[in-house]
Amino acid sequence: MTANYTGLIDYVQYMNFATDEKSQSNVLRSPPASSRAVKAVMQANRWKDTKPEIILRKNLRKLGITGYRLYWPIPGRPDIAFPGRRICILVQGCFWHRCPHCKLPLPRTNADYWIEKFKRNTERDIRKERERSDLGWITLVYWECEVLRDPFKIAMKIKEAIKLRPA
Ligand SMILES: [Zn+2]
Repeated sequence: MTANYTGLIDYVQYMNFATDEKSQSNVLRSPPASSRAVKAVMQANRWKDTKPEIILRKNLRKLGITGYRLYWPIPGRPDIAFPGRRICILVQGCFWHRCPHCKLPLPRTNADYWIEKFKRNTERDIRKERERSDLGWITLVYWECEVLRDPFKIAMKIKEAIKLRPA
């Protein structure tokens, strides 16, 4: 298999996560943004149609790949899904998912909050991937930075993965 079957270890759809938490008793409250940089990141955080997702979709279409669905209603609501093939793609944001390439520093203030948040994210990611796997889905995970660096290359990898798993 040439496809990049990275685990979902560090993945989170932050907005999904926040919504989930509301139904639990141990709500983790977001502290006020401690700096302009953090505030900008938090504001830029959107669940749908992020810049790397849009660029990746454009490159998929360039390769003639059009049969995908967005935010398909399976666990974790993956960014891109090929329901017939049960392959889904996650484009993970480097800040929220703690990208090992970018190594973005943790916000300095409210460190406990962030550590706990990322820990919960990780646990949730693992759970969601397992749920999808139980339903017969394969998850391909890509980092925001690698998508932005070479979206065509990532689109090619996805094309290869699709070929290996006919509908
Ligand atoms: Zn990164």
